Amino acid sequence: MKLMFLGAPGAGKGTQAEVVAKNHSIPTISTGALLRTAMKEGTELGIKAKSFIDAGNLVPDDVVIGIIKERLAEDDCKNGFILDGFPRTVPQAEALDAMNINMDLVISIEVSDEAIIKRMSGRRLCGECGASYHTVYIPTKVEGICDVCGGKLIMRADDKPETVISRLGVYHEQTEPLKDYYSARGKLVLVDGTDTIENITAEIEKKLEAVEG
Ligand code: AMP
Repeated sequence: MKLMFLGAPGAGKGTQAEVVAKNHSIPTISTGALLRTAMKEGTELGIKAKSFIDAGNLVPDDVVIGIIKERLAEDDCKNGFILDGFPRTVPQAEALDAMNINMDLVISIEVSDEAIIKRMSGRRLCGECGASYHTVYIPTKVEGICDVCGGKLIMRADDKPETVISRLGVYHEQTEPLKDYYSARGKLVLVDGTDTIENITAEIEKKLEAVEG
């Protein structure tokens, strides 16, 4: 099964991808997470990506297309995968088509800009393993400490309010046109991203059942 999650930054793509991937025993491929790992490790790729990410801009298409090509060639992607945060531009979607990768379903998680801005202030992630949390919606058992690995929680540098606003602008301008791209191909479904995490997952699973028949 090949799924794609579209949606504004903070719409809940990563949260839903994690749960749905577990339910279906397939990996989640997140270009954002791959780039953050590269930045943490200080690789050439990480150094190149950092200035774009910190400013709330997109990393150039050729860079992310290269990353995704390598990642999708790995063994664990053979039975399917979830794409979280890729593609983010029409040229990236075209690159996926050129790789002969046909998505079964593209799920757009819909949340208004106002709700996104409110949500982002509570968003946290583990500085060690990258697991994601929210102070209100996905709290850890011990405040500030990752449930998975015991690492310290941090706020992403690009989650500061002014960067969130520019990321939303980038989303509307460059990523939202992908809804038309996949709608024209009969692949797009919309899901209300303002419901509870559990209800959104249930809604997504219902859409998947419809596709699987
Ligand atoms: P995310 O974790 O998906 O919110 O991604 C964090 C940041 O990484 C984005 O704001 C972009 O700067 C960069 N990024 C992630 N995925 C892509 C992509 N497919 N194309 C370009 N930049 C990306």
